[in-house]
Amino acid sequence: MKRVLITGAAGFLGSHLCDRMIAEGFEVIGMDNLITGNIHNLDHLMPLANFHFYHHDVTKFVHVPGDIDAIMHFASPASPIDYLKMPIQTLKVGSLGTHNLLGLARAKGAKFMIASTSEVYGDPLVHPQNEEYWGNVNPIGPRGVYDEAKRFQEAMTMAYHTYHGVDIRIVRIFNTYGPRMRTNDGRALPAFFSQAIEGRDITVFGDGSQTRSFCYVDDLVEGIYRLLNSNYNYPVNIGNPVEISIKQAAEEVIGLTKTKSKIVYKDLPKDDPKVRKPDISKAKEILGWSPKVDRVEGFRKTYTYFKDVLS
Ligand code: UDP
Repeated sequence: MKRVLITGAAGFLGSHLCDRMIAEGFEVIGMDNLITGNIHNLDHLMPLANFHFYHHDVTKFVHVPGDIDAIMHFASPASPIDYLKMPIQTLKVGSLGTHNLLGLARAKGAKFMIASTSEVYGDPLVHPQNEEYWGNVNPIGPRGVYDEAKRFQEAMTMAYHTYHGVDIRIVRIFNTYGPRMRTNDGRALPAFFSQAIEGRDITVFGDGSQTRSFCYVDDLVEGIYRLLNSNYNYPVNIGNPVEISIKQAAEEVIGLTKTKSKIVYKDLPKDDPKVRKPDISKAKEILGWSPKVDRVEGFRKTYTYFKDVLS
């Protein structure tokens, strides 16, 4: 049986990846320090003989006995409010954590995948964003701790590929949503759904004209799994190219939930990207991948999840 190490296993994406890798017949070692992860996302996997959980911070030396075929490094605070609260940890998990795990990948001869991000493009001046765009990031702004950690992570990973021959995969993940997001993680969709369900004001930042392109988690996981199985060593955008304004997203949540909540406008956070939309030509061509779940279906599933959690 093949063994995979998944860091950030108790997080939103990490836990869905654990499910997928178990379903694909892997033995899964899930690692998390639980600073933003939720151990209950793994409750259903804990009884399985081919799942093991290590409570560990990957910025410290990482030891895993036995063979490892693949490492998927998905640990990091990933919501703007989290990396504002934990700027140093965010920088460390992308830099020291990545270095430790690359060392482990090299020692074990394991494939190494990193969860990079659309944030490497910063507040983009090219639209939609393709993988060739180098980005527009403010290194010392509030988001810089995440953006630069992820940019360093890509550079370090590529250096291990070039100089040590580690077999790498770099997925640039765009806004993703679905079950197991934390209701209070501060991101737009969890905020809007929680506010709508609890009858609170819906907080749109700025005038809501900024855009995002939201991908349902199952589509994202499919893209990631295909990338892992490909032999492509360069960055690939995985995201849903259907772009909407944040105001429209709020209105759709209001429509779906039939809430009486009203939109209120709050200050736009500093360096908030004005637009974001992935060019997924590469994923289509190399992986034969494109997203399948539309927003109506994805929002409905997410609403059901948040209703359950909040009741
Ligand atoms: N946003 C908002 N209200 C909220 C949370 C976020 O209007 O309660 C906005 C935020 O300013 C950004 C967009 O929604 O323009 C997406 O924010 P999110 O934190 O989900 O992710 P980002 O794409 O900024 O990393």
